[in-house]
Amino acid sequence: MFVRHLGLIGIMIDLAIRQAESSSFERAPMGAVLTKGHKVLGSGQNKTNRHQSKIRTTSWPGSLHAEIACVLDALRKHPVDKLKGATITVVRLGKKNKLRLAMPCRSCYNSLRNLGIKEVRFSNDNGGFTTMRFE
Ligand SMILES: [Zn+2]
Repeated sequence: MFVRHLGLIGIMIDLAIRQAESSSFERAPMGAVLTKGHKVLGSGQNKTNRHQSKIRTTSWPGSLHAEIACVLDALRKHPVDKLKGATITVVRLGKKNKLRLAMPCRSCYNSLRNLGIKEVRFSNDNGGFTTMRFE
């Protein structure tokens, strides 16, 4: 593993990186993990629409973003209320598995906010993380 952070945040980041590593979206592999306290509620990676049948939606233009894949995974396991107050950690991998900016797009941002997710932690181009809190 190329990033070693200590503690709970490091574990979340490692899980998100593992998701990104298994992404089929080769141009910009992204992974996300949704956590609340010590509990992992869900995880996911971005997918191209070639995988629509596996996602089980009737239509999905473009790609499925990691944040939404992660939320869908969490909603398969937990009632929607459980997602309130959760933190989502998102990573994007670039060349040589370097961390790249993974700031949520407007659509994901709105979805996350509407679900009551409290905090988004995303990788940045400096190899670190930026934290954004929903007000
Ligand atoms: Zn998005």
